[in-house]
Amino acid sequence: MTVHPNDPLLPEAKMHIALPGAPVVARIVSSESCIRGKSASFVRHIGIDLSGTPLEGTFLAGQSFGVIVPRIDSKGRPHKVRLYSIASPSYGEDGFGRVISTTCKRTIEEIPDENDPKRSDGHPLILGVCSNWLCDQSVGSDILVSGPNGKRFVLPTNPSDHDYIFMATGTGIAPFRGMIHELLVGPPAGSPAHAKWKGLCQSKIHLVMGVPYRTDLLYDSWLRDLASTHPNFTYHTVISREPLPQLGHGPHTHHYLDARLDFFGTLLESKRTLIYACGLAGMQVGIFKTLAIAGFGAQYLTVHEEIAAIAPSHWTTEQIKRRVRPTHRCMLEVY
Ligand SMILES: Cc1cc2nc3c(=O)[nH]c(=O)nc-3n(C[C@H](O)[C@H](O)[C@H](O)COP(=O)(O)OP(=O)(O)OC[C@H]3O[C@@H](n4cnc5c(N)ncnc54)[C@H](O)[C@@H]3O)c2cc1C
Repeated sequence: MTVHPNDPLLPEAKMHIALPGAPVVARIVSSESCIRGKSASFVRHIGIDLSGTPLEGTFLAGQSFGVIVPRIDSKGRPHKVRLYSIASPSYGEDGFGRVISTTCKRTIEEIPDENDPKRSDGHPLILGVCSNWLCDQSVGSDILVSGPNGKRFVLPTNPSDHDYIFMATGTGIAPFRGMIHELLVGPPAGSPAHAKWKGLCQSKIHLVMGVPYRTDLLYDSWLRDLASTHPNFTYHTVISREPLPQLGHGPHTHHYLDARLDFFGTLLESKRTLIYACGLAGMQVGIFKTLAIAGFGAQYLTVHEEIAAIAPSHWTTEQIKRRVRPTHRCMLEVY
């Protein structure tokens, strides 16, 4: 990938200190619902103590870690590792880098499989293995953890050199909770991280959070409080299954960006701005198309020559997935 003068300088992220085959034993220290209201989803903010393990102090906000369920799968093999973004800042929940956290959503689905005689009802309930196991664990339980994973979805070395548009769907909020904590709250007084902290970030920070229903919003009151006390931080919510006055029915995060280009345009034009998007696989398709149609493709996207002559409004989902890549000013984490 070509490096441009406005690309961010990123810190060296430590990776794969504990591999899934040789995980560390960590301990659950907190587990609480972080959903705004009564909802069909169940999402928990889970704190994990890494004290005394080689993973202590190694994570940067935005990285993820692995969880290995200590059971055997239906084929008699150990369960494969599942990744979870850390929701904590780089200095951890405690300022010592010992306690990381995540935002774990229970995977609960009805999946029709008429060919399976054991599922003759045609709509068997599927409970995701790891997310439900992790959410079931009580405070004090031991869990097997690997990581850190990922090196690009992190804040720049000098956060004040940039402004930020964070776009999240669902649990994609996890890395932004950590990053926003780092930018706007800071480590607890008296902690080792506090002594090294560069102070509150004065950059413009916009969080665009997309969920199906208002009750599904995560860390909502914390984010609202931060927005009301930090004029440089704006918290935008986009509710896809409830109509919004300006946007009509079914808006997703990219519709919001598009409908408010009068507002985001100057920010997107600025050489300081970085875009981070995290959440549902496919969310990048709408974001990339919106950016390209609005004329911001050159800063944030690399378009393969095969579709360079096609107007962005005619790009298909498949073309975007295969032929459009984010530049260093656009960080993407989708799953
Ligand atoms: C980089 C990264 C970061 C992530 N961060 C987070 C995060 O912060 N928070 C979070 O909640 N998740 C996160 N995830 C997703 C997480 O890793 C898991 O994929 C998720 O929790 C589901 O895992 P599970 O074991 O519960 O579900 P699984 O058991 O793996 O099931 C997953 C899906 O497989 C299908 N399936 C499973 N069993 C069957 C069956 N018997 N028949 C038919 N279909 C079936 C279903 O569609 C089901 O939803 C992240 C993923 C990545 C890659």
